[in-house]
Amino acid sequence: MLKLSSPKTIKYIMEKYGFKFSKSLGQNFLIDERVIEEIMEGAEIGPEDYVLEVGPGIGVMTQAMAERAKKVVSVEIDSSLLPVLDETLAPHDNIVIIHDDILKVDLRALIDREFDGQKPKVVANLPYYVTTPIIMMFLEEGIPVTDIVVMVQKEVADRIVSEPDSKIYGALSVAVQFYAAPKVIVKAPKGLFMPQPKVDSVVVRMKLRETPKVDVKDRKLFFRVVKAAFGMRRKTLLNALSAGLNVSKEMVTEVMEGCGIDPKRRGETLSIEEFGQLADAFEGEMNA
Ligand code: SAM
Repeated sequence: MLKLSSPKTIKYIMEKYGFKFSKSLGQNFLIDERVIEEIMEGAEIGPEDYVLEVGPGIGVMTQAMAERAKKVVSVEIDSSLLPVLDETLAPHDNIVIIHDDILKVDLRALIDREFDGQKPKVVANLPYYVTTPIIMMFLEEGIPVTDIVVMVQKEVADRIVSEPDSKIYGALSVAVQFYAAPKVIVKAPKGLFMPQPKVDSVVVRMKLRETPKVDVKDRKLFFRVVKAAFGMRRKTLLNALSAGLNVSKEMVTEVMEGCGIDPKRRGETLSIEEFGQLADAFEGEMNA
């Protein structure tokens, strides 16, 4: 069996199949066995698990998951990797490779068809250029999965897990934490990839909540308030919300004071619960 985490194997594949790394598809392949083992442990992949992978590359994580899980379905956009995967994953009969764009494939139908109606875990070393859209698609569209365990740039992970009052706490932190409980589980310095990226990565495990962290009357409005609050970071909430929601300062002041939140505070100081409170109060005012 080929050792898929070995740079020698990658070179052999490049020669045999004429494969070339595509920068625009975010192709940085893992070449470290230990970190793959850590991801498997951190994701707690066991014999009852169904796994949905985004971007198998040459199949290094796919193989490790197939050895532990019940079934792995992996969606790869790059057609030049399909013959490669035919060879590298040939020893496994519990892997299905789907040639598609993860952002375009009908994920509900795929999950229904491939996983006996059970929710899979999403596990992936994500392509950098679409990290946030992929994570947000799973969360916002309520795709039925139990966990999202993904390798992302360290800077993105820091934003995902950050708390109020931190400089990097923002709309992404609130959005992810609204739907899931995120935790950094593995560190992966840039030297563990081929070709080597410019920055270090980490693996974040997001466990999906049964219900969102706060119960809001109008989810769309909640996210409009969050976006407005962080849209102009150096402004007070009074100015940012009035401009971002296109409502008068008097109304914002009234709503905020009604919630006991000082209009002079800045967006990055608000907890998700406070954002929920504010959004519900705006809902009452806007529909009045
Ligand atoms: N899992 C492999 C590994 O860890 O070595 C490869 C990871 S590489 C960072 C990202 C993979 O995602 C590549 O195989 C790339 O072709 C694939 N990819 C990029 N954009 C995609 C998309 N929109 N849908 C599905 N796969 C995509």
